[in-house]
Amino acid sequence: SHRIMLGPLVAAIDQGTSSTRFLVFNAKTAELLSHHQVEIKQSFPKEGWVEEDPKEILQSVFECMERTCEKLTQLNIDISNIKAIGVTNQRETTLVWDKETGEPLYNAIVWLDLRTQSTVERLINKTPGRNKNHLKHKTGLPISTYFSAVKLRWLMDNVDEVHEAVVSHRAMFGTVDSWLIWCLTGGKSGGVHCTDVTNASRTMLFNIHTLEWDPELCKYFGIPMEILPRVRSSSEIYGLMKICSSLKSGALSGIPISGCLGDQSAALVGQMCFQDGQAKNTYGTGCFLLRNTGAKPVMSDHGLLTTVAYKLGRDKPACYALEGSVAIAGAVVRWLQDNLGIIGSSEELEKLAASVGTSYGCYFVPAFSGLYAPYWEPSARGIICGLTQFTNKSHVAFAALEAVCFQTREILDAMNQDSGIPLTQLQVDGGMTSNRLLMQLQADILCIPVVKPSMPETTALGAAMAAGAAEGVSVWSLSPEDLSEVTSEKFEPQINPEESEFRYARWKKAVQKSMNWET
Ligand code: ADP
Repeated sequence: SHRIMLGPLVAAIDQGTSSTRFLVFNAKTAELLSHHQVEIKQSFPKEGWVEEDPKEILQSVFECMERTCEKLTQLNIDISNIKAIGVTNQRETTLVWDKETGEPLYNAIVWLDLRTQSTVERLINKTPGRNKNHLKHKTGLPISTYFSAVKLRWLMDNVDEVHEAVVSHRAMFGTVDSWLIWCLTGGKSGGVHCTDVTNASRTMLFNIHTLEWDPELCKYFGIPMEILPRVRSSSEIYGLMKICSSLKSGALSGIPISGCLGDQSAALVGQMCFQDGQAKNTYGTGCFLLRNTGAKPVMSDHGLLTTVAYKLGRDKPACYALEGSVAIAGAVVRWLQDNLGIIGSSEELEKLAASVGTSYGCYFVPAFSGLYAPYWEPSARGIICGLTQFTNKSHVAFAALEAVCFQTREILDAMNQDSGIPLTQLQVDGGMTSNRLLMQLQADILCIPVVKPSMPETTALGAAMAAGAAEGVSVWSLSPEDLSEVTSEKFEPQINPEESEFRYARWKKAVQKSMNWET
């Protein structure tokens, strides 16, 4: 059979909280040619704890690679056309491994995990004026359970293996990007220990102005700097794929790994938000609205984070973003399915909620991991309120979807206030955007149109673009003009603004009820 001629291809590993994907794009057209996805198990060993198995994460990457290569071969597409691989990942999730054995020393502590709540409270109490923004001038972040430093501190204090490895200079710390790149470039036999500026900016150990690990921050959290990965730009060759015994085909060996971005940064790139003022909202396990603020880090007065958006090349300037982070979005769907059992799959949620088309005055604040932006309140807990004799599971399902929209409205309001220039439409992506009812509700609750690209894998696209554009690869230019027409779907607001405001005001009342529960 004849091979299809396509020109250069670029692949991306998208390691998310709920699943891993490997995807292959045509670098000329940005067309998605093939992909494979594998779910990741999450364990909840204690209340508030969330862990994943680093080896399962790595294995899922191999499986996705293997299966995607098989699919490409079936399509008569030559795998040797893959010129680069990008990595994008769930951010903040914290791992420590032994560089001599290559073994993880504990499970990955997932970003949502709350085990460090008491540590965080103690740290905040020690700051002048009990100020959770004490480190914000350097990090852009409030002191919170969310970021890696406190998770790493917990591992050093509570896991003997980690403590011993640190003392004997065998420990390596990393977020998921570092773990994967180290393993894929050879692991204990010469793997590259690195991360990129976007992932580093979520650790609370990184100075977002100098773009370097900060000795004072490391001292503050008691983290030895020698265990930290080297910080690189988001687009450069970090190393080459090594032949892995786990990868049957070996087909990808020798390909440069040359893109690395935290998932929310990658989505910003994949949505082509390269201009100051452009924004996107991604609906996955959590929900993350990022607005590009250009070469300047802008500090928020309304509870948003300042983060490195991307740095697309060693000699390129860093771009910054304001970010509104919502801990629980898609995670509430999984909770309705796994914990309450009122739906059998995430697709069923839309049908159930649509069957009533209203929450009938029921409000659901899914503050399972406290509240993130704009409140940063670790002691909040979830509530479902406004129940009557009439309320049934369909109303609760509807309220769960509405909760995602209200949380987005809160961060959009904060962002508009910080920037002074209101967004006139919202670009969206992520797994939850396949839910059309959610998209319509979001437009209704924001009172602005919601625009969804027809190719939903924008996170992976961003990582692939960064990899393909890297110096020494250069098969992909980052200009939007190079892409074939980006088609999208637009959801216009359909309810009147008074109705929308009324429901939003009720939501805010419900949020107040969820606060200070755990104190
Ligand atoms: P992540 O990158 O965090 O792993 P994804 O972008 O892959 O997340 O999205 C997965 C999330 O989206 C899951 O939490 C899932 O429950 C949710 N989800 C997927 N499909 C739907 C749907 N049709 N309706 C509502 N939620 C959905």
